[in-house]
Amino acid sequence: MPRFGTVLFDLDGTVVDTRELIRRSHRHAVTTVLGRDMPDHELLANVGRPLIEQMEAFDEVRAQELLEAQREWSHAHTAELIRPYPGIGVMLADLVAAGCRTGVVTSKAGPTAELALDALPEVARCIEVLVAVEDTPTHKPGPEPVLLALQRLGAEPSDACYVGDAPFDVAAARAAGVTSVGVTWGFFPREAVADADVVIDAVPDLERYLMGVT
Ligand SMILES: [Mg+2]
Repeated sequence: MPRFGTVLFDLDGTVVDTRELIRRSHRHAVTTVLGRDMPDHELLANVGRPLIEQMEAFDEVRAQELLEAQREWSHAHTAELIRPYPGIGVMLADLVAAGCRTGVVTSKAGPTAELALDALPEVARCIEVLVAVEDTPTHKPGPEPVLLALQRLGAEPSDACYVGDAPFDVAAARAAGVTSVGVTWGFFPREAVADADVVIDAVPDLERYLMGVT
């Protein structure tokens, strides 16, 4: 018996391994637009927040130019560089087969998120609802995108969880009144999600938790 009727997921660093795609897209943007390089930890410091905010952290004045360079490179290389974390596709199929409703709540732009899902049909076919950055006026760490996904699924916060790898995901879940599930295989260290209701270190453990097997 699944633990929650509705399971919402962050995308990058939770469902899909986009580390290489994002690292190389961000590096392409800062080297071509700003003419300089940055260490990986600086490039990836704000992953999980809206892309424009990540670019503003690199250069406030040239953020739009950075965003366009990043997006063009990222879109051209998504199919080649994106992959689901091992076991995620099976876990999603098992959840759906068990009657769970599912959604992705991401700070990515809709077309970018759809491009990612198009490259991964085993993931896409198990996701009922996609909430992207343009779907709500405010974003994670606020509650709005999680609440919109619940509304679209006709689900109650008390019967839902939000699974994510970032502190913004934990905060968004808490603000929306759903159970927060922090996972540690993505972009952030364990400490970043330590105050989630549940912290999980491996995909098989996440499947057992969500399926109610303890
Ligand atoms: Mg993430």
